[in-house]
Amino acid sequence: MSRTDPPSPAPSTYAIDGQITRARPVEPALYAVSTPIGNLGDVTLRALEVLAASDLVVCEDTRVTRTLLDRYAIRKPMAAYHDHNAARERPRLLAMLRGGKTLALVSDAGTPLVSDPGYKLVEEALAEGLKVIPIPGPSAILAALVAAGLPTDAFAFLGFLPPRSSARRTRLAAFAALPATLVLYEAPHRAAETLADMAAVLGPGRPGVLARELTKRFEEIRRGTLEALAAGALADPPRGEIVLLAGPPAETETGDDDLDALLRAALETQGPGQAAAEIAKATGRPRKEVYARARSLRATGDEPEASGGARDEPDNPDLPS
Ligand code: SAM
Repeated sequence: MSRTDPPSPAPSTYAIDGQITRARPVEPALYAVSTPIGNLGDVTLRALEVLAASDLVVCEDTRVTRTLLDRYAIRKPMAAYHDHNAARERPRLLAMLRGGKTLALVSDAGTPLVSDPGYKLVEEALAEGLKVIPIPGPSAILAALVAAGLPTDAFAFLGFLPPRSSARRTRLAAFAALPATLVLYEAPHRAAETLADMAAVLGPGRPGVLARELTKRFEEIRRGTLEALAAGALADPPRGEIVLLAGPPAETETGDDDLDALLRAALETQGPGQAAAEIAKATGRPRKEVYARARSLRATGDEPEASGGARDEPDNPDLPS
């Protein structure tokens, strides 16, 4: 190639087990592409398509992402984007997007922006009216949650907790009463002390899970009370990458005064049937009993007039839940 020749464009192909596929062209945008959390077989077809069709792969560490691209024979330019160069690199990346280029943002593992770089880039791209498209796939949060055996109907992700115990306990206290499974990331050398703080703050006997090296050779899922897991992590320190989970707090019986307070609030916007159905479900109290209480509150006028969409319902506690 002479000095004046333009560089030949990188091919938009990928290969699975030697079978080469031409990636379909994609709409120019910033793509947030999820990649495997250990097992390279977990990459999605769409992730391969977008990586192969992109003008630039924006990654945390080019050596880590090179392993993934090599596995699928993707030859694309890469640019490192991490905490130490993000402010400097962002204007250049945004200019490329403005110029109609396609950027694939990945992190070392899992979903970018989830305890990983990319939030500011997405935020600024959106502020400029540029298109951002998610390519969903692996993340340690959901991989751990679905194998934990803890409730999945409501969960909260806390990211990494502060490294100091006092700040960590303060953060945990803010979530202690939340009726949801808690999911957090932790470094292996802090697992035992964080589990001990979780046991102390979230309460004794609360169920927990330590999920380690998910999708990898030494995948391990330890289940037990938070105290038992803390003791286990001291005796047999876990290695590798770790997700910690705590089940929701045990449901406590809602007393009559609390029940009335909940009903009064609900009756502001709902009829007694719907209010009773929702509050019975939330508190575990029998629906007929809650409905009777709602009717009597309404009859005695001990609750505000229903407003907005609230309707008076027929005298029937068998209402949809
Ligand atoms: N963006 C990633 C995601 O979507 O899961 C998370 C990146 S964060 C910097 C890295 C942390 O994720 C690790 O310290 C660990 O807590 C968790 N993690 C990542 N891969 C994991 C795996 N294979 N098994 C267990 N935890 C993992």
